[in-house]
Amino acid sequence: MSHRRLHGCLTSILLCVIAIGLTGAFAQPQSTRPASIVVFAPHPDDEVIGCAGIIMQALARGARVKVVAITSGDGFPAAAAGVAHKAVDRVGPDDFFALSRFRQIQSRSALGILGGQADDLILLGYPDGDLGSLYDATDEKVIRQQFTRKNETYASIQKDYHTSVHGKPAAYQRSSVLGDLVELLTSLEPTEIYVTDQTDGHIDHRAAFWFVRDAAKQVGYKGAFYTYLVHGLPAWPFPTGVTPNLPFESRKIEGEVVPRGLPWPPPRRVPLSREQAQRKLKSIQAHNIPVVGMPEHQSEMESFVKSEEVFWTPLPSAR
Ligand SMILES: [Zn+2]
Repeated sequence: MSHRRLHGCLTSILLCVIAIGLTGAFAQPQSTRPASIVVFAPHPDDEVIGCAGIIMQALARGARVKVVAITSGDGFPAAAAGVAHKAVDRVGPDDFFALSRFRQIQSRSALGILGGQADDLILLGYPDGDLGSLYDATDEKVIRQQFTRKNETYASIQKDYHTSVHGKPAAYQRSSVLGDLVELLTSLEPTEIYVTDQTDGHIDHRAAFWFVRDAAKQVGYKGAFYTYLVHGLPAWPFPTGVTPNLPFESRKIEGEVVPRGLPWPPPRRVPLSREQAQRKLKSIQAHNIPVVGMPEHQSEMESFVKSEEVFWTPLPSAR
């Protein structure tokens, strides 16, 4: 072998080693850490309203998806009345338990429509309507939900998260919510988090954001953090109705640009195919509840069927 050939040969080997090294360096994170998505829903139904497309697309490409319902959806008297076939002023704790069971079954069915499994649904079992009070409370103050009279976590179709991991429910305390969320972020190691936006008109939705943000801070979460909007102010979404061929739109209402408090266009827009939009519609229809006095409830949820889903990224200061 000539000097020159030997040199050429060594150069080739060296380039080869560098190439293998580089391939390894870039390929490894993907192969050892596949995408893991966690969608936090304040109530059973928010996950499909905001993220059905994200969920089905992620599952279709083999990513791991977990849906975490933070409350049991057990604080909606008109819905409890509808499920129980009673007048709103006649419903009692058992009717609210029946409602939460009804809504949890719906979340499980909706997730199945999107390609998920029953164990992809995690139920924390905190009180519907009280997340804001829990966030504002001192760590140890225990809250009792006014409709169910419960003061600790529960779920109807499977064990609530805290019971499944610790063998007993968690008291309705600020520290319990934060503790469960910190544990979940630690064990699930998500690469993407989705939660309702802090500008949402529903206090549970804002508090869900605050809790998840605080838990993410506590664990030093470095992945992507997205928010979705359900009860945008003063009205949302636009255009109204099931419009699978149209994107979401900002509007000006009485001189105010909506959705209030959020940049438009949103920083992330995820297109949905016609088939995906139809599947999103089916998953929302799986959440149909006969709500007394609110016939528009279902059509409002279905208005989130668009040719896309939209997400915001909270400012670093908000995280
Ligand atoms: Zn909600």
